[in-house]
Amino acid sequence: MFHLRNVLAAAAVSGLLAACGGSSDRNYFETEGLRAPEGSCDVKPSRIGLAEKIRSIDEGNGCEVSNAWRIQSVGSVSFSQPATLRCGMAEPLREWIEDTVQPMAQRTYGESVVSVDVAASYSCRPRNNQRGAKMSEHGYGNAIDIAAFTLESGRKVTVADGWRGASRDRNFLKQVHGDACGDFNTVLGPNSDSAHRDHFHLDLQNRRSGSKYCR
Ligand SMILES: [Zn+2]
Repeated sequence: MFHLRNVLAAAAVSGLLAACGGSSDRNYFETEGLRAPEGSCDVKPSRIGLAEKIRSIDEGNGCEVSNAWRIQSVGSVSFSQPATLRCGMAEPLREWIEDTVQPMAQRTYGESVVSVDVAASYSCRPRNNQRGAKMSEHGYGNAIDIAAFTLESGRKVTVADGWRGASRDRNFLKQVHGDACGDFNTVLGPNSDSAHRDHFHLDLQNRRSGSKYCR
């Protein structure tokens, strides 16, 4: 336990040093490990979708979510599976869905998105499931992975096929990926690395520098 704490402390320090090394250092966005601010839950998830508050999570190894919610929909869009997230993730998700995803879906396909495939939410694991890597923001319930968007017609636009697929799928996915950077602090997709070839990773990582990383 003490050993683990020391490792986590060392991780935080190395993250700080890596941040000073410039944004090209891959460790930079993997490390800092600051908790999301407690006061950052402005809107209850149950006010903007189907959601219920659940018991706080604390696995005793760094993975914890103090204001945890089980979220089944946000705004007009339902989730393929309930997402366990910290409270503060819901409103940025709603803003992204309502202000970016839906207008872009209307412009591109002439219809709305009715659901998204949630590939991951809370998960106590290192980044990219790599042994020895720093704690993922998923371990704070501060991240969600989205793999596909389903339209009213039932048509599903997947990141895996659409990112380099037909031009309107490419346009739609690139636009909603790029604009997610306005609502989230980290946005990763197929251009970032092979671990994200089939989904968008959106998180609210609380970096000391206050900067964003979107790729
Ligand atoms: Zn992720």
